Amino acid sequence: MQTSEFQTNASDLCFPSFGFMPAGLRSGPADATLALTVRPPHLLLRRKPSNETLNAHVTAGYRTVLGASEPSELQFRSLAGPQAQHLAMHTFQLNTGSKIPAVALGTWQSEPGRVKSAVAHALNVGYRHVDCAFVYGNENEVGQGLAEAFKAGIKREDVFVTSKLWNTFHRDPEKCLDETLRRLGLDYVDLYLIHWPVPMNPNGNDPLFPKHPDGSRDLDTDIAHWETWSNMENLLTTGKTSAIGVSNYSVKYLEELLSHCDVVPAVNQIENHPYLPQKDIHDFCKAKGILVEAYSPLGSTDSPLFEEPAVKALANQYHVSPGTILISYQVSRGHVALPKSVTPGRIEENLRLIQLGEDDLKALDSIHESRGTKRFVYPPFGVDLGFPDKQ
Ligand code: NAP
Repeated sequence: MQTSEFQTNASDLCFPSFGFMPAGLRSGPADATLALTVRPPHLLLRRKPSNETLNAHVTAGYRTVLGASEPSELQFRSLAGPQAQHLAMHTFQLNTGSKIPAVALGTWQSEPGRVKSAVAHALNVGYRHVDCAFVYGNENEVGQGLAEAFKAGIKREDVFVTSKLWNTFHRDPEKCLDETLRRLGLDYVDLYLIHWPVPMNPNGNDPLFPKHPDGSRDLDTDIAHWETWSNMENLLTTGKTSAIGVSNYSVKYLEELLSHCDVVPAVNQIENHPYLPQKDIHDFCKAKGILVEAYSPLGSTDSPLFEEPAVKALANQYHVSPGTILISYQVSRGHVALPKSVTPGRIEENLRLIQLGEDDLKALDSIHESRGTKRFVYPPFGVDLGFPDKQ
């Protein structure tokens, strides 16, 4: 592995849409002299490389090229050293003190036969964070993708793996976690979440989605979600997870949990995008030291957000894709983003983030006011989860 040192004028550099740029530097002086240190897997090129040059760099260990694919896309931007790092390397700090990469590969609805290669490709191009769940039914294949990456030299301790407790295991989280670890082929996960605060009958007519004869969900109403949390707290002594958190928790549920818990959740993973900014949860979590993770950041399958005029306007302004704007929106707000893709080019594209300014964030924050709030993921559990848009 080699390190490249660059002492150069900003106007010599090409960054088509890549890197993590503080707003103040985005249009910095074109003639500023910059010292850049670029380490594998990132490579900074001053001009469009030939295939031979690229192959030589890949052989040398680089996996990500900060450069232009087409000369017409070239833009000149000034960057300081740390900002030249690929966003995959950007991390947030959990309330446990551990670091968590700002972007993860999502794996929900990643079809069998495509997950393994998606995970392996993501890790190869710089992802260090994978979001999984027992109920996705594909953790075996995610594990194969992880194994392939580990075989290629990526270290387990450099990859952040999250999984989630399914609803039928609230009375015995360790049982669900053990099965997840077996499927993933791991000794531990870095983060384990209560998937939904909705305990369901562990002995019902289906192991995952038990129902009553009338079709309604067979809920386990004798256990409160904060009792599940107490079971989760016990997992911390097993070494099978480094941190615990929740998912799909409204402010109402978080308040209930915090009044009963010993350990404050490290994260709250919630649906988040410009149609559902959930500022109430964002503010509450920030005040309590709980990191928000944004699921469905692109608006999930067949998302209308890619055609949303305000998103497209920012994409045109910054010469990036709408997906880059949507993922950058999350990370610029201080949220971990969990974009899912099984398509190699999109997996790579989803790491190309920019730092949005305050006005940009305001524009994205206000889209739902004119277009209406839209929630794409809300299984019919028949439970009031306390979200204002569902009252
Ligand atoms: P998402 O990431 O918002 O969107 C995924 C969809 O967008 C897929 O159809 C994907 O297609 C497509 N896509 C990805 N990148 C794209 C790009 N750059 N340009 C155009 N299309 C693109 O939706 P999600 O899967 O609902 O959410 C992401 C992750 O969050 C999940 O995978 C899961 O890990 C997590 N999640 C958690 C919960 C929870 O309850 N905790 C719920 C939902 C999701 P291809 O794959 O075909 O490329």
